[in-house]
Amino acid sequence: MARLTYHGHATCTLETDDGTRLVFDPFFDENPSCAVKSAEVEADYILVSHGHGDHFADCIPLAVRTGATVIGTFELVSYCLEKGAKSGHGMNIGGGYRFPFGRVKLTPALHTGSVAGDTDGTHTTDCCGFLVEFEGRRVYHAGDTALTMDMLLLKGQVDVALLPIGDNYTMGPDDAVRAVEMIEPKVVIPIHYNTWPVISQDPQAFKAKVGNRAAVEILAPGATYEF
Ligand SMILES: [Zn+2]
Repeated sequence: MARLTYHGHATCTLETDDGTRLVFDPFFDENPSCAVKSAEVEADYILVSHGHGDHFADCIPLAVRTGATVIGTFELVSYCLEKGAKSGHGMNIGGGYRFPFGRVKLTPALHTGSVAGDTDGTHTTDCCGFLVEFEGRRVYHAGDTALTMDMLLLKGQVDVALLPIGDNYTMGPDDAVRAVEMIEPKVVIPIHYNTWPVISQDPQAFKAKVGNRAAVEILAPGATYEF
């Protein structure tokens, strides 16, 4: 079984059958929803969707300590390597690459970009999501994004979709339902909500709106979904 653990906000860890540990959008220490500290986390790969602090804050310290390979857009990975990350693999949107654990493709995400800590602004970067295929399973982490027609291109390619529902900074519940209609995943896990009052949402109401379009797995921070 693969184990996907939600740590609150957009932060997730995914452990594959063979024990490879992937961390998506590491935001542990300052994440109000997360009980785990980054110093307790182990990682082989870190997949970071963009440079905003609520996705990137613990990326470099985690990469430095664990030696994990950072995967993301070219500019953001270059920044991590300049700041001491031991390993990185820069990509760009629409491109895929086969890693030892499986294939990662960067998907479009409609959002703004800056890199927390990049004081001269030279690493301003576009945002992305991730389509990860491993051991016959397909997981889509949307990153921070609006609803976009590009999601239609993912139709039939996703088993488990992690979709933001918080509104304000990303798509909200109604647009996330439309994303489900476009992508047709088997399972949806809502993310990027209830971290702060401005993105307060009721995941049960979202589940009801999704209805029979997909199974909705509501994970409390710290909970694990096995598949
Ligand atoms: Zn965010």
